[in-house]
Parts: sequence; structure tokens; C-alpha cells
Amino acid sequence: MLNGLNAIVTGSTSGIGLGVAKVLAAKGANLVINGFGDADAIEKERAGLESDFGIKAVYSDADMSKPDQIAAMVDLCASSFGSVDILVNNAGIQHTDPVEQFPAEKWHAILAINLSSAFFSIQAALPHMRAKGYGRIINIGSAHGLVASANKSAYVAAKHGVVGLSKVVALETAGSGITCNTICPGWVHTPLVQKQIEAMADDQNISVEAATDKLLCAKQPSGQFVTPDQIGSLAAFLCSPAAAQITGIALPIDGGWTAQ
Ligand code: NAD
Repeated sequence: MLNGLNAIVTGSTSGIGLGVAKVLAAKGANLVINGFGDADAIEKERAGLESDFGIKAVYSDADMSKPDQIAAMVDLCASSFGSVDILVNNAGIQHTDPVEQFPAEKWHAILAINLSSAFFSIQAALPHMRAKGYGRIINIGSAHGLVASANKSAYVAAKHGVVGLSKVVALETAGSGITCNTICPGWVHTPLVQKQIEAMADDQNISVEAATDKLLCAKQPSGQFVTPDQIGSLAAFLCSPAAAQITGIALPIDGGWTAQ
């Protein structure tokens, strides 16, 4: 279904990004993978994507807080494969604290990695997409792009920003064969959430299992985690011809979180 298309998935060495990369590869897209981690583990992932799915994969070590490195990552996709057809802006970090105690450096880092990186990668990718008359930009937002939670000022601000940025890009590209949308996941059991579960278990002196249940039940009516594979499948749908007229939307995949 995505044979011959070339995709960048930022933050794809872990969690949701890795899940999205695997689904796009399974559908036939070549990949630029990106993110931090152990060099041997990343090379194993890259080689595994090629051998498991018969596609080509290259790795970019670009730091998503650095605009020049983001531009180099987009160039790597174009120089390796000849085009940039799909851009999934997924890299993200979290920090929780009340506003009064929120460290300035965490605010700047979250805004840079969770929001500004999407702006700079879209800016670099759009000329390639316009040249081909096809492009799919998928920003991984969050339920926190639509509603708020206490102690997540930077994250909620960044994710609401991503939803707004996606709408602007959708308007500027409407009718050109390019779409831009935000996927808004609820809780997904990844390292980013595991840290929050462990912090809750510590703070409240409860087991990790009890903290996991508590975290889920507080927000997600289904009481079940969303999976990276489900998010990957939704991203693949947004890349398909059936989704050509879906643009500028913020699509929750959240077990009912934002229905409340
Ligand atoms: P994760 O911690 O498992 O993965 C984050 C990825 O981003 C990793 O590959 C990491 O190396 C990469 N990354 C972090 N900083 C980077 C930087 N400066 N440059 C390049 N790569 C960087 O987290 P996850 O839960 O898979 O989150 C992925 C995205 O999904 C984030 O944008 C997050 O906000 C969003 N999200 C997660 C959940 C959830 O419940 N897990 C819910 C909604 C949205």
C-alpha cells in the first residue's frame, strides 16, 4: 500500500515511533528512523526493519531540539531515497511539576522537542512534497492537545500548539496533494509513561501494578492502553488515498478520554 513511498519517523527508537515505523515498513515504505539510544540496539532495529519488511532504512541521529540537525535529517531522506513523502513528527519528552516549580530549562526543552521540531521538519519537508504533489504530514499530538491535566504546563501547551500548527499547514497545503493531521493518543504503555507510573507508585507508596490501574482509570474510560501498533495503523490509513480529503484534523485514539 505504501510501496515506493519514503517516510521519516522522528523518535522511532522507542515506544510509539517504533510502532509507527514498523507498520509503515510493513506497508512497504522506506524509512528514516531517528531517536536516541544504544548504537548497537539502533543498528539492530534498522537492519531488522530492512530484513523483516524488505524495505530500505537509514538512521539519522538528529537532535530534535536543533533546527540545523532537523534539516539534515530531511536532506538524508531526500538524498537516500529521492523524495520525502511521509513525515511523522513523533519525538517527545515529558516533565511534570506545578507551574510555580516548573524548571525553565524543562519548559524550553519540551517546547523545542515536542512543538518547534514539528515546525522545522515541516518547513524542510514541504518543498520535497510540493515537488511531487503528494505528502502526508502526521503529527503525534496527545489527548493533552485537546484537554489539560495539572502539572503538565509545558507538555499541554506544546501539544495544543501542535494541533494549531497542523491546522495552519493543512490550510496552506489544501488542494496540493499534501495533508497534515494530528493523531491524539491517550495513554500508551511506553517508557515515557512507565516513568510517570513509577513516580506515582513512589509518591503514593503503592505498587507499580496499582499505580498502572490508577493512572489508566483516572483518564481513560476503556481502562486499556492504546498500543503503538494501533497508532501505526491509524498513521498508515492517513497515508492512504482513502484519507486524501482528511486534513487539519486532530484525531483522538484515546479509549474515550476526550469524550468526557
Ligand atoms: P518514548 O520515550 O518511548 O519515545 C520517545 C522517542 O523520542 C525516543 O525514540 C527518544 O529517543 C526520542 N527523542 C526524545 N528526545 C529526542 C530528541 N531531542 N531528538 C530526537 N529524538 C528524541 O515516548 P512515547 O510514549 O513513545 O512518545 C512518543 C510521542 O507520543 C511523544 O510525542 C509523546 O508526547 C506522544 N504521546 C505519548 C503518549 C503515551 O501515553 N505514551 C500519549 C500521547 C502522546
